[in-house]
Amino acid sequence: MSKLTNIWVFSDNVERYGELMAGARLWGEQVYAVVQDNEQASRIKPLGADRILILEKTSALQRIENYAETLATIIKEVNSDQAPTLLLMAATKRAKALTARLGVLLNAAVVNDVTAVQADETGFFAEHRMYGGLAFGKEKINSTTAIITLAPGVLEPATANPTHDCPITSVSYVAPRQEILCKERRAKSLSSVDLSKAKRVIGVGRGLAAQDDLKMIHDLAAALGAEVGCSRPIAEGENWMERERYIGVSGVLLKSDIYLMLGISGQIQHMVGGNGAKIIIAVNKDKNAPIFNYADYGLVGDIYKVVPALIDHLAR
Ligand code: FAD
Repeated sequence: MSKLTNIWVFSDNVERYGELMAGARLWGEQVYAVVQDNEQASRIKPLGADRILILEKTSALQRIENYAETLATIIKEVNSDQAPTLLLMAATKRAKALTARLGVLLNAAVVNDVTAVQADETGFFAEHRMYGGLAFGKEKINSTTAIITLAPGVLEPATANPTHDCPITSVSYVAPRQEILCKERRAKSLSSVDLSKAKRVIGVGRGLAAQDDLKMIHDLAAALGAEVGCSRPIAEGENWMERERYIGVSGVLLKSDIYLMLGISGQIQHMVGGNGAKIIIAVNKDKNAPIFNYADYGLVGDIYKVVPALIDHLAR
């Protein structure tokens, strides 16, 4: 088996279809993309699916877990001959809730946060992070149908071909036995930044003594044309920055050209997210900090001296 017969692609985040379609094309023969409306269908079509299916809208679909029966029904219909099949989704919290239900409905193996997929004559394998990024696990999928959620930034998005065409059909909603209904929505202050796409990133850690000191970090970012991210304690714990901005195994995986790390110790859970940067530059006052084992350029120094000096230098 070097390629799977059928690959299904579905994402609750439309931005992730590019990466998923790249994986689908690598690992599958027939690619079915499932989307939530006509607008998404038009957007996804140039990415090369063989067929696009649009899910029927109902108010119950505000919660994507309710798609489980619908997705299971269409996958079973197409796959009546039990050909090797993969459902590929983005590793989002909601998709993972959906995979749990689909795993039961399709009697399928589920692997979350997958970082690599390999299909050869001996079978189909998925690699994923374990123990908070300290190790990788490689699973052999033994079920005919498998479900994986792909970690962000693992693959380059598929290249769009505006002339690509494929059939687009609608799919009726199949209500689950227990629908989860959304009763109320409240706005949350979300950051619009997508650090996984940023070319230059400054990361700030617990070396920062106070939230107000973020101002100098933002000033430096403005001077460098960089986005600002952080270590997990700055976002979860101190709550000085949005959760979307922390980098690491449970946060964002960088693919930037430069990652400038300020007052971050360099624990493995953080570096799993930072290591994707082409060049890592670290400033830390502790010469024994683990970050100096990863950094391409390291400066033993106090960020409260280095950052103002850099801003001053860049302003000249
Ligand atoms: P610290 O480890 O406290 O380091 C602060 C650093 O700042 C020190 O090296 C210190 O020398 C330096 N410093 C202090 N003052 C200055 C100064 N004035 N100038 C220069 N340097 C200074 N963390 C993540 O970031 N992302 C994750 O996704 C993540 N996932 C995790 C998942 C699990 C299951 C677990 C258990 C942990 C996870 N963590 C994650 C937490 C991680 O293990 C570390 O605790 C965290 O990354 C440390 O953050 P830090 O480097 O900012 O803080």
